[in-house]
Amino acid sequence: MQDNERENVRKVIEYFNRSGVVLTEEEKKRIIVADYGWGKFELLGASYLDFVNNERYSVREIVLFPGQSTSEHCHPSIGQLLGKTETARCQYGTIYAYMEGEPTSNPKGKPPEGLEKFYTVWHEIVMKPGDQLTVPTGTRHWYQAGDEGAVFIEYASTLRDEYDVHNLPWLNDNCVEK
Ligand code: ZN
Repeated sequence: MQDNERENVRKVIEYFNRSGVVLTEEEKKRIIVADYGWGKFELLGASYLDFVNNERYSVREIVLFPGQSTSEHCHPSIGQLLGKTETARCQYGTIYAYMEGEPTSNPKGKPPEGLEKFYTVWHEIVMKPGDQLTVPTGTRHWYQAGDEGAVFIEYASTLRDEYDVHNLPWLNDNCVEK
């Protein structure tokens, strides 16, 4: 692990502490810090830890740093396998969630600079601790944290990240459909 990655993991643990999420030492070692291959982690990225992922369901904890965005993506069905349905519940900070639907005028979120054209869904839902949102199978969505960063838990059907369809072209190598 590189120094900056180690530093980011340390910050992620701080956010979990602040949000009241309790992690074991073993879980702290499994935190994943992902920059989606763009190299500007402070703008585009997400950190997460999977508590459970089996053939029927999953639970993932996610940290977004202040102003950080995920990529816009969806979870399509693959053959007989129904794509992931996810429920995101805010535990700390503010989350600006965007999904397909009536575009919100003057949305609060801003795509990472230079990647604007890859952000296409603008129906905004603002989530504070205790608010939750369900994203149906195959619906495009992305998340951005407010100024204090955000911690949220995601209850979902089985995680199959390798089948996620992203708008960012370099993330789609493994996708079976576009
Ligand atoms: Zn998703």
